[in-house]
Amino acid sequence: MAVSTASERVGKLLEREQERFEDSHPRSREIHDAAAADLLSGVPMNWMTRWPGRFPIYVHTARGSEVTDVDGNTYVDLCLGDTGAMCGHAPAPTVAAIAAQAERGITTMLPSEDAGAVGELMAERFGLRNWQFTVSATDANRFLVRLCRQVSGRPKILVHNHCYHGSVDETVVTIGSDGRPAPRYGNVGPPVDPAETTRVVEINDIEALERELAHEDVACVLVEPALTNIGIVLPDPGYHDELRRITRETGTILIIDETHTLSCGPGGYTGAYGLEPDAITMGKPIAGGIPTGAYGLSDELADRVLGSTFWDAADVGGVGGTLAGNALQLAAVRATLGEVLTAEAYERMIGLGGRYEAGVNDAIERHGLDWSAVRLGCRVEYMFSPEPPRNGAEADAVIGGPLDELMHLYMLNEGILFTPFHMMALISPATTAEQVDAHSEAFDRIAAELIPGS
Ligand code: PMP
Repeated sequence: MAVSTASERVGKLLEREQERFEDSHPRSREIHDAAAADLLSGVPMNWMTRWPGRFPIYVHTARGSEVTDVDGNTYVDLCLGDTGAMCGHAPAPTVAAIAAQAERGITTMLPSEDAGAVGELMAERFGLRNWQFTVSATDANRFLVRLCRQVSGRPKILVHNHCYHGSVDETVVTIGSDGRPAPRYGNVGPPVDPAETTRVVEINDIEALERELAHEDVACVLVEPALTNIGIVLPDPGYHDELRRITRETGTILIIDETHTLSCGPGGYTGAYGLEPDAITMGKPIAGGIPTGAYGLSDELADRVLGSTFWDAADVGGVGGTLAGNALQLAAVRATLGEVLTAEAYERMIGLGGRYEAGVNDAIERHGLDWSAVRLGCRVEYMFSPEPPRNGAEADAVIGGPLDELMHLYMLNEGILFTPFHMMALISPATTAEQVDAHSEAFDRIAAELIPGS
């Protein structure tokens, strides 16, 4: 049955949940109101205002798969720092490696002895060699886009509609009402009209890919293998083969951003589905939460990059950063990939992802909801549409609104944290079957309230 997002019932439930939230978070409210004197909007980063409720919960402890707030409420954390904590909070091997390295120095702008081992771990997992480390996934994407322009001599990039690759200027773009690239809603101070820098196609639109890349002015295609930042939108079978064929035929570099699709397995989506990109970017969980990004290059692309590097200006040319590749990062990556995000851990996580998806699908069916669940390994999303959307525009049309707000706030009040941006849930190595089932039960209860008598 359709749940109208703006129905009176949704409005009433939302009011009830807002009251519940205020009543159970007095200390968070107090901290927030006091912090507003010195922090813009009372938070250290503006995104934190996107959590449900009038103010965010302020965290006391995050350990394993749980977060405890300053009011003493404990939550099953399915947000996991929007993937930054996909390995669970404070995983013991990573914490031990960080503590040991911190004692021996955090950043020196020199390589530490972990460097070689970390390169090997990355190469084994992702099938590419030639890795570099950055402070964030955003940086990895920014640097690689510059390198692709440099080696190809082409000015533009191509992205999927409703992509997200961090705060990379060229990517904060959408398909406008006239079919041309336009600044995405909310794009803050774009330096130039994105139509000058970027071509945009819908995921799964092979004809558009052929058309846009035929201009041969695109240095690189930068895509997630599935969209994950407008809910999840999966590629159609065969889409990646076509993308690879067309990029090869037009001499366009193919970058796969694995930051969120690391949920698919130890080698990300690329490893799980045998993709053959020229470069891979990522960040978030690979250092267990220590800010880190990385990019890896095919041997051919690495040769082109090395051949066009101005070594005497490598520090000021627009690629790099003082803190990038620091000793703390490398120690944390080594421990996290070596001991936390292991093949065995993934097997459990993905198994629980399946259990979560089944719980949601059961409740959808039982209550006759016109919603659907989509999964990428240990990442699952529910979408407010009977069939999963097939592209960014379709996903954008069903995401957000009062129903989205209600689901986030209800789940939070029931002790379950979702990423604030959409209904994404992520399973960590520390997540348990009981926690997954606690979500299924909460989902069942709210579904019964949304569809009375179901
Ligand atoms: N790439 C993808 C696919 C992402 O989802 C994100 C963040 N959500 C980023 C890059 C940027 O990550 P960060 O904010 O850690 O730089």
